[in-house]
Amino acid sequence: MVYSSIAKSYFDEFPFRRKDRRKPSSNYFFLSHGHSDHMSGIKLSLSDPDSTIVCSRETYAVIKVLHRVPRERCLIVKPNQSLDFDSYIIHAIDANHCLGSLMFVVESEQGLKEVYTGDFRLGSPIVDELNLIKGADHLWLDFTYGRDPIFQFPSRQEIISEIITLILSGDNYPERDIWIAAYQIGKELLLKTVSEALKVKIWAPEYKVNIYKEIGGEWDFFTDSTSSGVFVGSRRMVETFQGIEENEQLKISNALRISPTGWAIQMKQKRLDVHFFPYSDHCSYSQVHKFLELISARTVTKI
Ligand SMILES: [Zn+2]
Repeated sequence: MVYSSIAKSYFDEFPFRRKDRRKPSSNYFFLSHGHSDHMSGIKLSLSDPDSTIVCSRETYAVIKVLHRVPRERCLIVKPNQSLDFDSYIIHAIDANHCLGSLMFVVESEQGLKEVYTGDFRLGSPIVDELNLIKGADHLWLDFTYGRDPIFQFPSRQEIISEIITLILSGDNYPERDIWIAAYQIGKELLLKTVSEALKVKIWAPEYKVNIYKEIGGEWDFFTDSTSSGVFVGSRRMVETFQGIEENEQLKISNALRISPTGWAIQMKQKRLDVHFFPYSDHCSYSQVHKFLELISARTVTKI
């Protein structure tokens, strides 16, 4: 649970069922991005008519499609925008994680500072705002890969090149269907590059097509048509094909399966029929420790 004592608000937590929840004196709930492990309790939050969710336009597209959150229940914030509340200011920074992900910096009237990173990958949008983030009194830090130096990742661009090379090599595409794993939002850079390289739209489950349609513009490259032979689904879907029936249009038994995940680094027995790549929207071990050094926060909670 992340509770900001400056904003007297919750971040990525909608604790309406928790007995021990502190009474927020504000009705604002800050949502860093649209991954389900950051949205628990969001539906219940809507039962309180005064609650407002603060998030980016892209994250709103996720909660609109998945949880039918009405637009008037949200306050949309852009990267590099600051919101002035009565006794504190919130700055939103592009977290360089999935599309629409934000990091929040909270500053009190008295000059106290709290930073909530949400999930993030260190990169220029964050480095450009270091002066704003530095010297926090408290830092809540995404520490997903921070506990083991084994987690060193190549750049996302390097892995994308490797994946495109694999797809285009030998008798892979278009002879074989291509399946790539991703959550409801995220890994966009990879999927967009694949779509552009093959000049096709990518099949996705209906909710995902609707999320990216809602976001629109350059990100609307998903379709419900299977004709391109390129598919995106959850890791479970891609790695096990559970719940997918083979038919004439889907060449499942012969498909090329690609699972981009930071955890690929430590998988000892990789499945031979799934290609794992250490592509991550989180910091590597070195990046997260570099960030810690750069921020030099007084106190830190690793999440
Ligand atoms: Zn995430």
